[in-house]
Amino acid sequence: MFICLSCNTEIVLINKDNYYCSNCDKNYRALLGIPDLRIFSPPYLSIDDDWSHAQELVEHFNDYGFEGLLGYRYNYIPKNSNALI
Ligand SMILES: [Zn+2]
Repeated sequence: MFICLSCNTEIVLINKDNYYCSNCDKNYRALLGIPDLRIFSPPYLSIDDDWSHAQELVEHFNDYGFEGLLGYRYNYIPKNSNALI
């Protein structure tokens, strides 16, 4: 069960790529069944850019494996940021 972070209402799975909050009338996209519930972007990366990168990670999972993807992700974050990987 997932909860909308804006209103604390349970969100409903619409299809494998989308959840929906009926109270906010808001759609939440999902990747591999995991909804993106973020409301605010971290200072080092926009939510949309991070989402695009997550899609790239999924696309390359079979090519790189888990360890390779960690390196891929590490190299994606700007070196001068304070971001946690
Ligand atoms: Zn809501």
